[in-house]
Amino acid sequence: MTKVSMHEELPFDETATPPRVSTGDLPIHAEIRQLVTEAYERYRGDDSGTVADYIPVLAQAAPGLFGIAVVGPWGRSFEIGDVAARFSLQSVSKPFVFALVCDTLGYEEARLRLGVNSTGFPFNSLMAVELNADRTMNPLVNAGAIATTSLVPGATHDEKWESIRARLSMFAGRELTVNAEVYASESSTNMRNQGIAHLLRSYERLYFDPDEATDIYTRQCSLDVTVHDLAVMAATLANGGVNPVTGETVIRPGVCRRVLAVMASAGLYELSGDWLYQIGVPGKSGVSGGIVTVSPGKGGLATYSPPLDAAGNSVRGQLATKYLADRLGLNLFASVPAEGPPTPF
Ligand code: GLN
Repeated sequence: MTKVSMHEELPFDETATPPRVSTGDLPIHAEIRQLVTEAYERYRGDDSGTVADYIPVLAQAAPGLFGIAVVGPWGRSFEIGDVAARFSLQSVSKPFVFALVCDTLGYEEARLRLGVNSTGFPFNSLMAVELNADRTMNPLVNAGAIATTSLVPGATHDEKWESIRARLSMFAGRELTVNAEVYASESSTNMRNQGIAHLLRSYERLYFDPDEATDIYTRQCSLDVTVHDLAVMAATLANGGVNPVTGETVIRPGVCRRVLAVMASAGLYELSGDWLYQIGVPGKSGVSGGIVTVSPGKGGLATYSPPLDAAGNSVRGQLATKYLADRLGLNLFASVPAEGPPTPF
């Protein structure tokens, strides 16, 4: 049974002027610096969680690594901890590749082909494909993410890969490169993702050769980043699609808000509801220990710490993000009661 919501676009006037946004500003710089330091000191000693080992090379990550970065809408950054440590982008690549596909295909066509609802299943679930009539549920779990990669512009494997590498580099504001060791390790153990790709192909919900699409997907997951890169990528999504450090337009604002909507509903796998309930901001996590959080109009926050909870989300990252979201005023659902006389409308 196909859900009606998959096929009806809700009317929205992109050309409305002036653009209406619902957000304010971050606190002053000194306060951000102090809060980021507090979050770091508070959670650096928490050693709960386990480093991912299903991709063999990831198991070598030092569990004590911990870094936090905040990038505001004018590109200014605040960072603490292991900010120079490099790690693979993994699932954090997914919203950015989705953005690229929305930019090329149109976000409505992307929604029809990929879906935008959470699955309620783990990130690499085959059950989610079998149980849902639309097969792919959203671009942020493996099935939908591999389908998203299959839709990236380019006629060949190499052209598609170059589209991804180039656009994700624009998000980060520097040329990103593949970590060869991570790529080799995941390539030799990713039979499950190959299976997902072939299953999707059998349902005609994959749009390129399954083995090539899986390979490109594995490459995008292996791109090397720092926590600073992640914060710049998040800040670009917080800034209407313009990279606040380079000033470059990476995607259009209409795409940007759809990407954030999917991150809010599905960014932390089966715990996305808990994340939104407690933290109240779009986010995306990855198995190497990165989390990006986007506060529209205010900025991007990124954390890196390899030990994960059972769903595959960084433990210290979630704690630090919760602490900072509350104190920096990131929660999208927070409001304060009105003061003074009522204003007519
Ligand atoms: N490359 C990983 C995989 O497909 C990404 C998963 C993740 O970060 N959750 O298994």
